[in-house]
Amino acid sequence: MILTDDTTATETRPMVRAADVRKRFGPVEVLKGIDLTVAPGEVSCLLGPSGSGKSTFLRCINHLERIDGGQLWVDGDLVGYRRQARRLHELRAAEVARRRRDIGMVFQRFNLFPHLTALGNIIEAPVRVLGTSREQARAEAARLLERVGLADKARSYPGQLSGGQQQRVAIARALAMRPKLMLFDEPTSALDPELVGDVLAVMKGLAADGMTMVVVTHEMGFAREVADSVAFLDDGVVVESGPPAEVLGAPRHERTRAFLDKVL
Ligand code: ADP
Ligand code: MG
Repeated sequence: MILTDDTTATETRPMVRAADVRKRFGPVEVLKGIDLTVAPGEVSCLLGPSGSGKSTFLRCINHLERIDGGQLWVDGDLVGYRRQARRLHELRAAEVARRRRDIGMVFQRFNLFPHLTALGNIIEAPVRVLGTSREQARAEAARLLERVGLADKARSYPGQLSGGQQQRVAIARALAMRPKLMLFDEPTSALDPELVGDVLAVMKGLAADGMTMVVVTHEMGFAREVADSVAFLDDGVVVESGPPAEVLGAPRHERTRAFLDKVL
């Protein structure tokens, strides 16, 4: 096929593509055929009630859960497999670890190392895993702390920081690995309300810089303002997805409407 028009020529490989992704825990099917595509540079917000499968889906993208059906690609690579001589081979642990380096994940709980300073937390993985020199890692960490608004907290320990500050360090720590994809699982849900804004502002900055992000959140303001697309999950499927103005402003499905009525 000859590529002639711009639409076709600029079509890019998705950063995430899920096709009929299924996951069960014992007898319970938790993901019942998730379909979702996230383009490079896109911010995709996942909304949905508790227990709908949002965290499980993020964990599948990040190789933390093995899927039972369907297909899941990250940046063109089939999750869990490599292709060799036209055959698929299951990834070995070392290969999984290598792919996971490219994916940053930020959880509701910040999970910083309590015995390391903010700077120490950020340089840990680049130094240990990537073999970056301490000097270079420190310089990069200082830039990242600046970016998350914590330039003056390099020497503070997690216990000396507010929840919002810890979460921003956690974001900087993930960015230190130079991920091509960032996953956020309710990053502000555990924070006192007055600390939420600073974390969302950092995420908004990341989005503006072109980071590809999949964000599970109940922050409708963020979804409306920052997301390129919103997907509403319920009971293990994407019930509807599209631009925030459509999904949030004019939901087509009763289940979406019922959920939005509760959270808005
Ligand atoms: P959400 O993040 O949307 O609240 P989850 O993905 O955490 O939903 O959970 C979806 C469902 O899967 C829930 O019913 C939960 O209890 C179940 N579940 C999640 N992880 C496990 C697990 N490791 N073992 C068994 N059940 C699980
Ligand atoms: Mg969850």
